[in-house]
Amino acid sequence: MKRPSLKIEDLVQEPYTSCPNCSRVAFGVHVWVGDHVYTKTCIKCGHEQRHNLPPIKKRVIYLDQNAISEMMKSIHSDTSERTRKRLDPFWLQLFNKLDRLQKLRLIVCPKSTYHTHESVVDDRSAALERMIDQLSGDVSFFDSVTIRRFQLHEGVHALLEGRQFNLQTIDSVSHGDQSKWGPSMMIRIVGTMPADLVADIISSRDEVADGISEVFKRWQCEKDQKFEDWYREETLGFGRGIATAVEQRLKRHLEIQSGGEWTLDDILPSSGQEMFSTIVEAHKYTGYSLTDAITKTWELLGTTKVDIVPFVWIGSMLWAAVARKAAAGQKRLPSRGMASDIRMVSDLLPYCDTMFVDNEVSALLKESPLDRISETFNTEVFSLNNQEEFIRYLDEIESSASEEHLVLVEEVYGTREPKPYRSMYE
Ligand SMILES: [Zn+2]
Repeated sequence: MKRPSLKIEDLVQEPYTSCPNCSRVAFGVHVWVGDHVYTKTCIKCGHEQRHNLPPIKKRVIYLDQNAISEMMKSIHSDTSERTRKRLDPFWLQLFNKLDRLQKLRLIVCPKSTYHTHESVVDDRSAALERMIDQLSGDVSFFDSVTIRRFQLHEGVHALLEGRQFNLQTIDSVSHGDQSKWGPSMMIRIVGTMPADLVADIISSRDEVADGISEVFKRWQCEKDQKFEDWYREETLGFGRGIATAVEQRLKRHLEIQSGGEWTLDDILPSSGQEMFSTIVEAHKYTGYSLTDAITKTWELLGTTKVDIVPFVWIGSMLWAAVARKAAAGQKRLPSRGMASDIRMVSDLLPYCDTMFVDNEVSALLKESPLDRISETFNTEVFSLNNQEEFIRYLDEIESSASEEHLVLVEEVYGTREPKPYRSMYE
């Protein structure tokens, strides 16, 4: 097999300036830009100069799976003419803007396990993953349980110390560094998820959706309840969910002790158990003995105090708002993606400057008292219903970029007019 030969000219981008060593006009920036450093190299004499780059404060914009999917379709060469005609031109416009802004190192659109879980069950999973990676700036959120455990740990400390909850930065709940520069090209490692995991994702999603339809029917009859009642029920439900997980595991252990067979599920901790252990550990960390820490954990899970933790607070507010809609006479059941959307927003909203979500969730977040959520975390929420505002918001990001930043972008990447990568799928 013939290996492609890479010449130094291919790795050093134009425009060239005069080399400080040999004076020939052959001095350019090497394409492998580091996180916070770039190198200028002479293609004639090999002379090198390293320059440091300042950290960048990029805007963190979370895009839901639908946005990823529609943008993919709008530039994919395999998209049928019929689909193309039905696509809202907004999606192509959005892709052009976002790709440009991420190349100007002004934004990142982090990837999450919500994207991955929705992509793997799609026929065009590889194309979807490609789109997410293109815009993610190499930043991907930790999985939901990990983020929740971090929040619970901090939440217990805040409660015990009688202080406010201190939210972690996005860098402590994600892989990658949102402040970095990085190369203009990207190396992607493509893996596939095992078929049984994919099957699990589909079946648990269906189970959750069925469960919600049931609850929704109950809410439709609760005409006398108020928002606060459902809110309270949801926060207490969080503790009850964990308690059930722990009790089920204890029950299984007793069964196994009296001769039952082990299964893989008995060995791996469930998410409920992991959260329970996190709360116990957080208590122990502040000086409680194991027995007292367990007692304190059970006590806490029986109260609404656990809503000091953002994901419990946001999730409970959203579900209470859905319940309020049901009781107010909404006939239509929540969409099958609603539970996943609510969980995604509960986990990730606090770390984002901006979220682009579906119309229904976006509308809920604008209702009182849920409007306090975006206010608290200073997160702007957009959806298709206010697409023009979103485009204006993105334009504003570029127009407010500092001249120093744009000059550096031009120096490091050779241009401040990057072209959107519309040929990604050719
Ligand atoms: Zn030289």
